[in-house]
Amino acid sequence: MEPGALGRWHLARAHYSSRGYTLDLVATLTLSSRASLLKPSPTLSITAKANALKAEGADVVSFAAGEPDFDTPDAIKDAAVRALAAGFTKYTPTSGIKDLKEAIVAKLARENGVSVTPEQVVVSAGAKLSVYEIMQILLDPGDEVLLIAPYWMTYAEQIRLAGGEPVVVQTTGQTGFIPSIDDIREAISSRTKAIIVNSPCNPTGAVFPRDTLEGLAALANRHGFWIVSDEIYERLVYGGIEQVSIASLDRETAERTITVNGCSKTFAMTGWRIGYLAAPTQVAKAVTNLQDQMTSNATSFAQKGAVQALKLDPAEVEKMRSEFEARRDLVAGLLSEIPRVPITVPGGAFYILPDFSAYLGGQVATDLDLAGYLLDEAQVATVPGSVFEAPGHLRLSYAASRTDIQKGVARIREALSKLQ
Ligand code: PMP
Ligand code: GLU
Repeated sequence: MEPGALGRWHLARAHYSSRGYTLDLVATLTLSSRASLLKPSPTLSITAKANALKAEGADVVSFAAGEPDFDTPDAIKDAAVRALAAGFTKYTPTSGIKDLKEAIVAKLARENGVSVTPEQVVVSAGAKLSVYEIMQILLDPGDEVLLIAPYWMTYAEQIRLAGGEPVVVQTTGQTGFIPSIDDIREAISSRTKAIIVNSPCNPTGAVFPRDTLEGLAALANRHGFWIVSDEIYERLVYGGIEQVSIASLDRETAERTITVNGCSKTFAMTGWRIGYLAAPTQVAKAVTNLQDQMTSNATSFAQKGAVQALKLDPAEVEKMRSEFEARRDLVAGLLSEIPRVPITVPGGAFYILPDFSAYLGGQVATDLDLAGYLLDEAQVATVPGSVFEAPGHLRLSYAASRTDIQKGVARIREALSKLQ
């Protein structure tokens, strides 16, 4: 036994036998209560399951994916390859390389009307990490965060992990999944610390109009809470609809808004893990301190790719955006032909959240059952709405080929007809 070992295993029991002293470990090995709160990401696991079935040769149509099916544009890949070849393979400043932070500042000014300095920007290994870090630095135990449902489930998990409590403001398809300012006002309490706004929204595709965002900002300003604006789907909007960045509304609002964005969706770069936030300096500094102790910088050469992404010829993004718009029209048109399945035509992102409640009952009682039934009976993968606090609904991602959209919706229709 090494010197000091006895002290280390203070929960061990010492035995004396003919072989001398031996130790029995008697401590029960437990995990933290934080770990017991954790749930796996259902969107990632359903996507992985659908991909695994496909790899085994099953003819599965997957509407599960939360990522573009396009390849990353070559100019971006080339920039990363050049950086690698040039030996750009070491630690970078935690909050990101200077040229990327400058490119983000320029992008926010040019495309979003948001004015920040490089010191207000933090680059992270994905926007998911940006949101996590924001929750960690904003919330104390018991603090409340307003979430507009249906919402991306990760927000609720990250709020709870930080000791906070999600307070849900419900929306419905009848109002296009746009929140009512009165409902938000009613949800505010003395513990409200922040609101998370995600427009365009995952999973509904709703794009919040300017007057909704103005009303929401007025509440935040009056009651004194933070606004976290997740704008990751911001470039994917359709039919000429206006996308408004909350931090562009006025100075007072900008001073309480943390804008989150990243390269994953706009540039088909989900695997690169590049997200960023732009925030008041105190927030950016606190996030940088946290990231210093967690991941350090986002991958060096991926950051070089991201610089190129932010300078990409807009025609490249437009190609992907217009293809998504055509698919949105296709999927919305096909779904609207299915009897008793109300849809809300999404203004952005690449998700649609039809209401299948009319088909639930008996063996297929919930949206979770229905997603299972569709996968087993029709080989179509979808994400149950309950995951996003939208029971009775299924989320379909139309980041899928037009052929798959046609085939998949026809199969859903056929499988539903057997349920009647
Ligand atoms: N926000 C929303 C609403 C999302 O759907 C996603 C997708 N994963 C993210 C943030 C995170 O994106 P990433 O971590 O790939 O940058
Ligand atoms: N955000 C995407 C989705 O909702 C990707 C999966 C995830 O990060 O959870 O499907």
